[in-house]
Amino acid sequence: MTFKELVKKALFLEILSGLALTLKVFLKKPVTIRYPHEKRPVSPGFRGRHAMVRESETGKERCVACMKCAMVCPSQCIYIKYNGGDGTPRELVKYEIEAYRCIYCGYCVEVCPMNAIVLTEHYEYSSYKREDNYFDKERLLLNWDEHVKTFKGKGYFNKFWSPPGIDIKRLPVGKRESINTGK
Ligand code: SF4
Ligand code: SF4
Repeated sequence: MTFKELVKKALFLEILSGLALTLKVFLKKPVTIRYPHEKRPVSPGFRGRHAMVRESETGKERCVACMKCAMVCPSQCIYIKYNGGDGTPRELVKYEIEAYRCIYCGYCVEVCPMNAIVLTEHYEYSSYKREDNYFDKERLLLNWDEHVKTFKGKGYFNKFWSPPGIDIKRLPVGKRESINTGK
């Protein structure tokens, strides 16, 4: 053992340096959060749970059953049924999305000529029942109501997943304010 090593041992320098490192890390701000009590803000453009846009005047969906979203969906997880056609307007009878099969590519949003479907910032999918993530039309409309309530501001809504056809003025007042202030 060299003299230097002997001094280090005698003065417990290695132990002290280890303890100093522990203390330094202990005093740092943690990188983890206490989920679900704390949640990280969702990044703009996050592609989460689907919602069907509800027209505020009629309370109904915008979808005209053109089938484009179902055709473009690479996961083939959109199921649509309609009445009419052949010269008469189609009436949407069934619109379902199997969320567990979805890969959140956003093609359904992009292709929709009516801006009737959006992806929201919601990411908490855990459930005791598989059916909870099998969205039918009513559930998709409720997802929209919830999305509007937890609205994330202009940056999120317009830049990424706000279909251009949505009239911001027809959203609830609180939501409009948050758009105007950009919060
Ligand atoms: S996001 Fe993509 S995979 Fe999911 S339903 Fe839409 S088109 Fe299909
Ligand atoms: S593309 Fe839009 S309008 Fe056409 S069926 Fe899908 S959601 Fe409805």
